[in-house]
Amino acid sequence: SVVLEVKEVKKVYGVQNGENSTVALDSVSFNVEKGEFIGIMGPSGSGKTTLLNILSGIGKPSYGEVFIGGKNITSLDKNEMALFRRQHLGFVFQEFNLMDSLTLKENVMLPMILDKRDKAQMEAKSEEIMKLLGIEEIAGKYPYNISGGQQQRVAVSRALVNDPDIIFADEPTGNLDSKSSNAVMKCIEKMNQERESTILMVTHDAFAASFCKKIIFIKDGAISMEIVSSGVRKEF
Ligand code: ADP
Ligand code: ADP
Repeated sequence: SVVLEVKEVKKVYGVQNGENSTVALDSVSFNVEKGEFIGIMGPSGSGKTTLLNILSGIGKPSYGEVFIGGKNITSLDKNEMALFRRQHLGFVFQEFNLMDSLTLKENVMLPMILDKRDKAQMEAKSEEIMKLLGIEEIAGKYPYNISGGQQQRVAVSRALVNDPDIIFADEPTGNLDSKSSNAVMKCIEKMNQERESTILMVTHDAFAASFCKKIIFIKDGAISMEIVSSGVRKEF
């Protein structure tokens, strides 16, 4: 089934300035099916951040529409969007954005705490996902006591704990060494394979991109190419 529909999305910055305006996205359209694992790549300034912001409801398109699970998110107001993001979307960023005053398990529970869920249910779901990602043994530790790779796996757990319709990842390996990148990408891949999580990831990193099943290339605000993976990985 189709999870995300992007219809003729166009973004123009600085319209008020007239001649100084920038067309960051020009009529971008594509669909994403449930369970897809898509990478978005392209040179700096090509519009990747703008696209991710619009798809995740942080930014509004100048023209066009975005549907998630059949709902037109471009028509939501600020409060409706905040709620929709919490209930339907998951986010992983380059910075891990964990709260130092909370344990790792509490960090993972955070999205559910905001939704005032049952405590026993929150604990069970958090423990389940941390176990799946191999970090259950450090659940009681604090973010400043663990490695960057472990922090990012906590962030991935937090993004997934509510079973979001889509996970948006923006350079998730940007601050990691190659060993940690591998561990984090394997976790994201596992979520995609075992829970059919739908993932949209912006990355400059060819290693991270190699995990995607499909890569969309953006150039000058438009899709220039799409590559579908053969699924064959040969590791050395
Ligand atoms: P990336 O790491 O994806 O290349 P950028 O450095 O292009 O990110 O942009 C970082 C942030 O600055 C983004 O949120 C983007 O919207 C904003 N930004 C980029 N270019 C401009 C600009 N010319 N004027 C104002 N904000 C900008
Ligand atoms: P990328 O993430 O691929 O580096 P961006 O989406 O950040 O690309 O930027 C696409 C284009 O839009 C660039 O020309 C950038 O300078 C411009 N841009 C991005 N954000 C803003 C903004 N807030 N105001 C004005 N121009 C922006």
